[in-house]
Amino acid sequence: MSKLKIAIQKSGRLSQKSVALLEECGLKFPNGGGKLITECTNFPVEILFLRDDDIPQYVEQNVAHIGIIGENVFLESEKAITIVEKLNFSVCRLSLAVPKEIDYPGINFFKGKKVATSYPNILQKYFKENRIEATVEVISGSVEIAPGIGLADGICDIVSSGSTLLSNGLKEVETVVKSQAVMVANQTLGEEAQQILNKLLFRIRSVQKAKENKYILLNSPNSQLEKIIQILPGMNSPTILPLAKDGWSSLHSVISEDKFWYVIDELKKAGAEGILVVPIEKMIL
Ligand code: ATP
Ligand code: ZN
Repeated sequence: MSKLKIAIQKSGRLSQKSVALLEECGLKFPNGGGKLITECTNFPVEILFLRDDDIPQYVEQNVAHIGIIGENVFLESEKAITIVEKLNFSVCRLSLAVPKEIDYPGINFFKGKKVATSYPNILQKYFKENRIEATVEVISGSVEIAPGIGLADGICDIVSSGSTLLSNGLKEVETVVKSQAVMVANQTLGEEAQQILNKLLFRIRSVQKAKENKYILLNSPNSQLEKIIQILPGMNSPTILPLAKDGWSSLHSVISEDKFWYVIDELKKAGAEGILVVPIEKMIL
C-alpha cells in the first residue's frame, strides 16, 4: 500500500502544533534528529519537514500530497492547491500598519505611498480591490523596521497581539486578510492517497470537535431535572442516573466550550449541584 505524504514546517511557529495535531490523531512517528523525512509506524503516512514557503509548491507538484501551512502562505503562493481543513491554530492576520504619530485618514492614506511587505501578491490584490495605487516594496524579513529607516511609509505584515508593531513605533490600521493554520491538498490525489486522507480528516475532525466541547456532570433534585435539561444544549438527550440520595439524579451531557460559563450560571440558578466539567479527548459524531 502506498503512503500519504504530509509536509509540515521543519522549524518555526507551526512545527510543534503540526506535530501535536498528528500525534493527537494517533499517529506515531520518530520526531527530531534533524531528519527531513520520517515514517509513521502505525498509519500509512510519511512526514516531510520543509520550510513553510516551499510547501505549496511541493503539494502542487504532488511531491507531498498534503501540507500544513498558514492561510497567509497559501494565499500568497497562488498555487493550484486546495484547503481541505481549517485547523484552528496559529490564528493571526495580515495587517497594514503605519507610524503611530500619523493621523490616519482611512485607506486612501496609502495612495501614492510605499509599503514594505513579504506578501506582495496578497497586498497587491488588496490594493487593487480597494482602488489604491501604491508601490509595494518586497522585503523578506524584519519588515517592521522599514518605516523607521525610511524605506517605506507603512508595512503589511503578520500581527497577532500587535506588541511587535507597538515596540517598533507602529500602529495597525487595516486588516488585509485573516489567517490560521490550514491543511492543503493536491488537486488530483490518487484514490489510495485520498482514502488515507479521508481517514486522517475524520480523526482531525474528532480531535477538533473534542476540543470545542466539554463533558459536564451534575447532580440535580428530580423536581428540577426538566428545567436543567432545557438549559443544556446537549448533543442528544442527556444521560440521567439515579443517585443514592433519594429524590436526586446525576445528569451527564456535552456542552460547547463557548457556552460553558453562561450555562454554568444558569444551571446553578436552577438548583444544580456538584457540577464537574471535564475535557473530552476524542468525539466521534
Ligand atoms: P520558515 O523558516 O519555515 O520559512 P517563517 O519564518 O516563514 O518560517 P514562522 O514565523 O515560523 O514562519 O511562521 C509560520 C506561520 O505561523 C506564518 O506563516 C503564520 O501563518 C503563522 N504566524 C506567524 N506569526 C504568528 C503569530 N505571531 N501568531 C500566530 N501565528 C503566527
Ligand atoms: Zn516561511
